[in-house]
Amino acid sequence: MPQFICTACGTQYPDSAAPPAQCLICEEERQYVPPRGQTWTTLDALRIDRVNGFRQYEPGVTGIGSQPQFAIGQRAILVQTPGGNVLWDCISLIDDATVSLVNDLGGLKAIAISHPHFYTTMAEWARAFDCPVHLHAADRDWVMRPDPALTFWDGETLKLWDGVTLIRCGGHFPGGSVLHWAGGAEGRGIVCAGDILTVATDRKWLTFMRSYPNFIPLSAREVEAIGKAVAPFAFERIYGHYFDRVIERNAKQVVEKSVARYVAAIEGKRGY
Ligand SMILES: [Zn+2]
Ligand SMILES: [Zn+2]
Repeated sequence: MPQFICTACGTQYPDSAAPPAQCLICEEERQYVPPRGQTWTTLDALRIDRVNGFRQYEPGVTGIGSQPQFAIGQRAILVQTPGGNVLWDCISLIDDATVSLVNDLGGLKAIAISHPHFYTTMAEWARAFDCPVHLHAADRDWVMRPDPALTFWDGETLKLWDGVTLIRCGGHFPGGSVLHWAGGAEGRGIVCAGDILTVATDRKWLTFMRSYPNFIPLSAREVEAIGKAVAPFAFERIYGHYFDRVIERNAKQVVEKSVARYVAAIEGKRGY
């Protein structure tokens, strides 16, 4: 039996003879059901009309995303360290070429995902690379396809290895997390932010939302908490959730000024 994938958010559901009646992720206010109605695909169908592309941003940091874009359109990031590789965030399409290429780059020791919109086909990736998937426990109710590889962490940070740390920021989702790698950007540090901190169109600022498609803002307190969560970490660069959304330099200061701008805006102040 196929495991159907929602074409709007990319989430894969367990075996079923017919497509699920609804996508719970899309029915919720942070996502949306397209006006044409919910439609479904499968991994086999995705493999026919899409391929994955790779972009090496810097040594040890490689983006992986589908062409043409699928569902939300995010790309994942392969972070390579001497102690093993982490896949940050996930995409629906996994195919033979992707498995071969990632294995040639050292395989995966773990997968970690920022929030439920990017859970996608995480169970397929975990099986292909025989590795665990780290998810924040606060969001476990949003797992649509349970799997023994899924492991849930609690609290504010989870240290992996070689300077890789998962940081819970909350905001967009209660368990919304980012990945910090101290070894990135020639040792100045990077943050892979998903859309927990979203790189704006100008690549000079970040923004923060409960829902991006439905334009639902977060409170000042929630956004200040995101700033506080990443404040103890050193980093030069932030990778957003699309291929081209990267803040190359001074990203730590960009977080500080972006939190201040957001809070001023939502409190009705100007002149930031
Ligand atoms: Zn969906
Ligand atoms: Zn999201």
